Parts: sequence; C-alpha cells; structure tokens
Amino acid sequence: MQPADIVKRNAAKYVLVATLTSPQVQKIDFWFGPYHVNKTGFLAVAGQVQRGSIGIEIGGEIAAGAAAQFEVDDNGRGAFRFPDPFGTALPDRMHVVHESTHAMFYLLYRSSRPEDTVNEGAAYVAGALYNIYMGSPVTDAELIPMPFAYANLIAKSIQNQQGAHVPERERSYLRAAVATRPLYGNSGVTYDSRN
Ligand SMILES: [Zn+2]
Repeated sequence: MQPADIVKRNAAKYVLVATLTSPQVQKIDFWFGPYHVNKTGFLAVAGQVQRGSIGIEIGGEIAAGAAAQFEVDDNGRGAFRFPDPFGTALPDRMHVVHESTHAMFYLLYRSSRPEDTVNEGAAYVAGALYNIYMGSPVTDAELIPMPFAYANLIAKSIQNQQGAHVPERERSYLRAAVATRPLYGNSGVTYDSRN
C-alpha cells in the first residue's frame, strides 16, 4: 500500500472513531423491532475498528447511488468502504453513523440477521437522529428524497427519548420506502429479503 493510502485510511479511521464516541452518537438509543441501536453497539464497532478487526477501505468500487458501504468478505471479515476523498463534513459523518449501524448488526446479530430493509431502515433512523442531535445542519429540504425523508420524520418523533420504540406502522412504511429505492432493488433487496 502507498504511504498516501495509509494516511487516508488512518484519517478515515480517526473520523469514524471520533464520530462514534461523540456525545451525539452516544445519545442515539432506539429500538427498531427487536433490534436495539444504542451506544453499546456503536462503542463495540469503534473498538473493533481500533483493533483492526473491522477494516477500512478508501476508494474502490462503491454501489451506484451509495455514499459509503459496510461489506463482509468471503472470510466473514467486515470492512467499511468510504469514497476518496472522504471528509469530515456532516453528510460524511451521517454516512459513518448509517454504515456503523450495519456494522453493529453484523457484530451483534450474526445468528438472527435482520431483513435487509430492517437493517437499512434502522441505519437511516440512526443517521437522521445524529443529524438532529448535531443541530440539523443537513436541512429538512436536503432530506426530502425517500427514504431519508421518512426516516427524518421518525427520528423527530422519537428524539430525546432513550430506548424509544419505532412503532410497527412506521417501520413498515420505512421498509417499503427502502425496498422501492433502485439502489437496493437493483441489488436484489425486497421487503423481506435477507442478503
Ligand atoms: Zn445502508
């Protein structure tokens, strides 16, 4: 690996760990069905990244329409993949929170994997809550595309409530919004799929 790549990787690692250990992420605490998204999970992800058990890749191929991704290789090793350049602006850190929710599910729910749309729905709500706790620098107008818009509404309804449960009807709508997004539909995601 080139020295410049090592620098980029270390910079992304720093942003990721700093984001996951920030007061705003530590405040995220909600249930999406049987799945709990909270600081315990985010700290577990940060710890695995610090130890190198979860990798970080910069650049390379990211699914069309996606800003970043969390992927698991054939050996079962998880890794984040961030675009190059990868910055510290809020949308980038929202993506860190979104992808870290996937990483959390990968770590904590290996034997009872959630459906793809549940995994995505929870990740969108976590990202939206993070934005709200940061003072909403990403505006409502910028969050209009589905499923961002719906996740943002849900996040507003449960903000500042530790351990809030996202109601079943809201979860269903959000899952349907995920399933109809081409980014997911094109990679085989349906409402009930488990990829
Ligand atoms: Zn996602």
